[in-house]
Amino acid sequence: MDSARKRAEKLRELLARYDYEYYVLDAPSVPDAEYDRLFRELQQLERNDPSLVVAGSPTQRVGGAVSGAFAAVRHSSPMLSLNNAFEDDEVLAFDRRVRERLAEEGLPVGELRYSAELKYDGVAVSLRYEHGLLAQAATRGDGTTGEDVTANVRTVRAIPLRLVGIAPSVLEVRGEVLMYRRDFERLNERQRHAGEREFVNPRNAAAGSLRQLDPAVTAARPLRFFAYGVGEVTGAGLPDTHSALLDWLARIGLPVGAERAAADGPQDLLAFYRRMQSLRPKLAYDIDGVVYKVERRHWHDALGFVARAPRFALAHKFPAEEALTELLDIEVQVGRTGKLTPVARLRPVFVGGVTVTNATLHNEDEIARKDLLIGDTVVVRRAGDVIPEVVRALPERRSEPPRRRAFAMPRACPVCGSAVVREEGEADWRCVGGLYCAAQRKQALLHFAQRRAMDIEGLGEKLVDQLVDAGLVRTPADLYRLDVATLAGLERMGEKSAANLVEAIGRSRRAGFARFLFALGIRHVGEEVARVLAQRYADTEALMREDWSALAAAKAALQKDNARRRARGEPPGPVPLEGIGPEIVASLQRFFEEPHNRQVIAALHAAGIEFVREAEAGERLAGRTFVVTGTLPTMSREQAHELIRRHGGTVASSVSRKTDFLVAGEAAGSKLARASELGIAVIDEDALLNMTGEALPRRVPDDPDDPVGSDPA
Ligand code: NAD
Repeated sequence: MDSARKRAEKLRELLARYDYEYYVLDAPSVPDAEYDRLFRELQQLERNDPSLVVAGSPTQRVGGAVSGAFAAVRHSSPMLSLNNAFEDDEVLAFDRRVRERLAEEGLPVGELRYSAELKYDGVAVSLRYEHGLLAQAATRGDGTTGEDVTANVRTVRAIPLRLVGIAPSVLEVRGEVLMYRRDFERLNERQRHAGEREFVNPRNAAAGSLRQLDPAVTAARPLRFFAYGVGEVTGAGLPDTHSALLDWLARIGLPVGAERAAADGPQDLLAFYRRMQSLRPKLAYDIDGVVYKVERRHWHDALGFVARAPRFALAHKFPAEEALTELLDIEVQVGRTGKLTPVARLRPVFVGGVTVTNATLHNEDEIARKDLLIGDTVVVRRAGDVIPEVVRALPERRSEPPRRRAFAMPRACPVCGSAVVREEGEADWRCVGGLYCAAQRKQALLHFAQRRAMDIEGLGEKLVDQLVDAGLVRTPADLYRLDVATLAGLERMGEKSAANLVEAIGRSRRAGFARFLFALGIRHVGEEVARVLAQRYADTEALMREDWSALAAAKAALQKDNARRRARGEPPGPVPLEGIGPEIVASLQRFFEEPHNRQVIAALHAAGIEFVREAEAGERLAGRTFVVTGTLPTMSREQAHELIRRHGGTVASSVSRKTDFLVAGEAAGSKLARASELGIAVIDEDALLNMTGEALPRRVPDDPDDPVGSDPA
């Protein structure tokens, strides 16, 4: 008993603090769900033992405060809160209570209907129009007395200063001031740039903007308004149903939400709730639920009020999008490309309609920026289908058990133990054991086998998945040990395709050296860089022997020297590995120094890869310069370039006197004209293929019996 009393006291104290942060400072420190959880706990305690109820309890009054900064406004009719429901059952219970009460009052229960609308997540205001002119605007405050924010409200363009048509002598419009999500993002961006405080969410931004001492500040904030009811009305009879009232408010010039429905009973209400739940992420503004109201307005008085809320209405809240939980640990995952991603392991928490146990933390800077410690209490957010996010920690809770520790990125890849690096200007750490790391296996194999690399026909994604998952292939070197029998045992793999694949793998042993270097998947080493490397180094041995630091230093010195020469008007001298910058050199060094990668390269040698020099692979086009233009019948422009280079030719992008051949396809334009002007030979795709002596590429056969895919050459 005593413990319940103590707990109730503790809860009142906490809730009072959160109310102050939320209503006065516009800077809540905990998510609404946490507040609601504590509120409900207190309600339950008070229900179990009514003697615990005290006059000032948050359950007995409308939350909010009246700050001394504004003149006080006494509401002519109180501005109440709403009773909340979270579960369908509570909606059924609400409907039952309404029916019972109506029956007690002798009203025709059979005629009961409801209207349903959105629960706007903003700040409640009361707008007093006198003879159609905006005379006063007030916040809800404690429900009885609010703050006079007339000067600020006058700057909100969504709120009319004058109503349209005939208006009652007094009309108090009740509604919600809010901020669109997009506007909120922009505002926070401006605040950030100006070094000002950012708002936690659009609701608090709206509240903070409305309660400004300088109306000019409010005027610069993009506030909106939706009307959802009325207070005092004098000098006019208003429509009898709530729906008709909202229609009328819209007609006299007030913004009213479009998402509304009339309902015959709780099933219709629940259907509306679900519809709005799926609409929620698409709305321009935040809603935190829907509100059900008894349609007949003259029944509202008969139904009356309890403590802080009317009996004729119910707020049916959506599952919270933010919740508190504990950051149990931070684990590091290695992605297919070797990127190390820290992932938060969370005490399971129900948020945004699902149980969340993990959330990506992106990179170490993000963790530092959010100042997260393992063991912290954190706010987790999941809105709509967006992936869950750790928003921030609650450092004030750090006084609880001292189990917290800082996160540190591992010094080696957690999957394969290879070195990890974070390159300058990048946020991510990466594992450099690309050829060896299990996490990167599939990606590395696909890259290795692709057409522009080792060109192993038939080794696609599905097959790589199967080979790796079955444990048959760990590194590219393992490919060269596969035999027909093993492959034919795989799903969807016949003898014939297995034999074809083994043959394709075998053929790849004689790929050119540049292709091979590209195939290794060294970071920053694309085809062009691989070609430059293949010109300078005879084989992988030479690359592994290279002293990269010395080379980088030599390059830097020569470049400096060249800059001086240019300044003196002298021609620059040659620089080794022209066009290959320090970033690439560093990447080569890391790759070839990593013992795991060296092992795989040795295994590839052992598997019989012959590092055929490109010049040997084809010299037929050596010394000739080609330009490709127009649409070729079977090859893409890129394929044609590749073909030319593979046979030792040079590709240029524009026609000049140095051009030897223009390869022209359909719709060739200015380049063709220029070539004939200069008397340069113009050839077609077939002629190019003839020059290289390569097989014609595949065509769709004219003869339908000729199986697609057989090579005509
Ligand atoms: P409420 O927000 O749950 O509901 C009442 C309010 O809903 C009304 O005053 C009105 O402004 C608004 N409303 C929106 N659309 C409406 C519509 N169509 N018809 C009628 N009213 C509509 O209750 P409250 O008393 O304003 O605030 C309590 C809530 O505020 C808590 O449940 C909690 O989620 C949040 N809160 C959070 C903290 C925190 O620290 N995070 C602190 C205090 C309060």
